[in-house]
Parts: sequence; C-alpha cells; structure tokens
Amino acid sequence: MTALWLLIAFFSIFASASIGSTKGRTLEGLVAGLMLGPFGIVYAGFLPNGNEKCAHCHGWCFRQATVCQNCGREYPSAQSPFPDVDPMKVSR
Ligand SMILES: [Zn+2]
Repeated sequence: MTALWLLIAFFSIFASASIGSTKGRTLEGLVAGLMLGPFGIVYAGFLPNGNEKCAHCHGWCFRQATVCQNCGREYPSAQSPFPDVDPMKVSR
C-alpha cells in the first residue's frame, strides 16, 4: 500500500513538472507536485502560459521578450520563435 502512494507521489511530481515545462515553469510544476501531490497536477494545469521570471529582478516577463519589461536588462532565457531574426537589431 505504501508503494502505491509512493508511485502516486512520483507520478504527481513528474506529471506536474512536465506540464509546467510546457509553460516554461518546470520548477513551479515540480514544487507543486512535490507539495500538493496529485493536486499539483491540477495546479500546474492552471499555471498561466508564456511568462517566466526574470533572473535579475525576479519580475514576470513575456517568454519571447529579449529585454525584461521590468528592469530593462537583457533576458537570458529568451527563446525567440525566429532565432535568425533579432527584432532589436533589424534596422531596415
Ligand atoms: Zn528584470
């Protein structure tokens, strides 16, 4: 019976972390699964999509942004959908 609960706990952590990773919030999903168990999966499902925390000011930024909208510093984990085109450097 203990093995079943352990299985549920590990599944919850894995599932909520993978749901969080699709939204750029792997750590939040992981913590939710760790703290809330199966309810963490539900929590991860309700996480808003497309935002990440800035490494400098810890404010929320758009995931596609290259510069933080809060502190104006370069956003290191920016994942542009068009990696060849930097919108900040196009001068034409
Ligand atoms: Zn910032």
